[in-house]
Amino acid sequence: MRVAILGAGGLGKAAAQIIECKSDMTLVAIADAGGWAADSNGLDASQIAQVKVGGSVAELAQGQDSDDSIGEIIKMGNAIDGVFLALPNLPNNFIPGVTQRFLDGGFQGSFVDALKRTRAMEMMFDLDDAVRAANCVYLTGCGATPGLLTAAAALAAQSFVKIEKVDIWWGVGIARWDDYKATIREDIAHLPGYDVEKAKLLSDSEVDALLNETEGKLELHEMEHADDVMLERAGVIGRDQVHVGGVMDTRSATKPVSTTMTLTGVTFEGKRAQHKFVLGDETSMAANVCGPALGYLKRAHWLRERGVCGVFGSAEMMPMVVK
Ligand code: NAD
Repeated sequence: MRVAILGAGGLGKAAAQIIECKSDMTLVAIADAGGWAADSNGLDASQIAQVKVGGSVAELAQGQDSDDSIGEIIKMGNAIDGVFLALPNLPNNFIPGVTQRFLDGGFQGSFVDALKRTRAMEMMFDLDDAVRAANCVYLTGCGATPGLLTAAAALAAQSFVKIEKVDIWWGVGIARWDDYKATIREDIAHLPGYDVEKAKLLSDSEVDALLNETEGKLELHEMEHADDVMLERAGVIGRDQVHVGGVMDTRSATKPVSTTMTLTGVTFEGKRAQHKFVLGDETSMAANVCGPALGYLKRAHWLRERGVCGVFGSAEMMPMVVK
């Protein structure tokens, strides 16, 4: 599969490194806010990893500056089979808007994102008719949460005839916040007194100052996370019974708490029980977001080859293993 990555921040760079470990996929293009790079024989992930925060993939041997790198990738058309959108989603309609540009540009292929916000994902589902008409497949919410943990909840639900609640509590540790600027701004948007617009407008020094107040940690409760809308759409549980929160440490790569998904249900015999899915503490956010995203990109391509098109959530599909 010939893959393009949009966004060369923390997640885009990690996805490039994972693709390099695989033979099923070749990274043929990557774009960021400053430019883009393309090579039908594959781009070198170690060179992409060397691009500093504030730099651009335009610095690569195959790179070029551009004010509209996404437009340049759209022009590559059928030289690309699948696109991983590892872009910031600020404001909420940014990624839906990029998708619409690909459809308008005549792209026919597969997409995957790691969208987090419920409202943003609802906008993606609204694109279903347009995605189908364009003969494309778009799998949304395919990171860790939403993504891996949401799919785990859909699987766990199978043991029960009634699902009572789904609790997701995540822990993420990163050594520097500016390796994942969009992730941190989008997390800040969940704090009391903030929203997506306010978080987008924060300067880097304002983010620094905010993180200083809590020694680099963010603890978030009852997040507006699209796990709710995806599990509702998949028929697992109503969105009000899905609770998401977690702790982000921006000063240490060690997880501050373990990441768990706990589903409570009642079996056909009337027994109440919990299924728990726990991520290994040694696994990073990048591994748990980009691994599933690429697994879902392979699934999107597989669906398209079989004539199934449209927008689906990660709770409706299983990711495939990328060899
Ligand atoms: P980042 O800030 O590190 O990188 C964003 C990249 O996008 C940068 O390379 C930037 O140059 C590029 N970009 C910005 N605007 C652009 C434009 N107009 N055209 C081309 N490129 C552009 O971001 P990140 O921390 O890697 O996060 C990426 C996304 O992944 C965020 O939306 C975040 O919320 C999401 N995420 C999801 C999960 C999950 O589990 N679902 C977890 C973490 C992050």
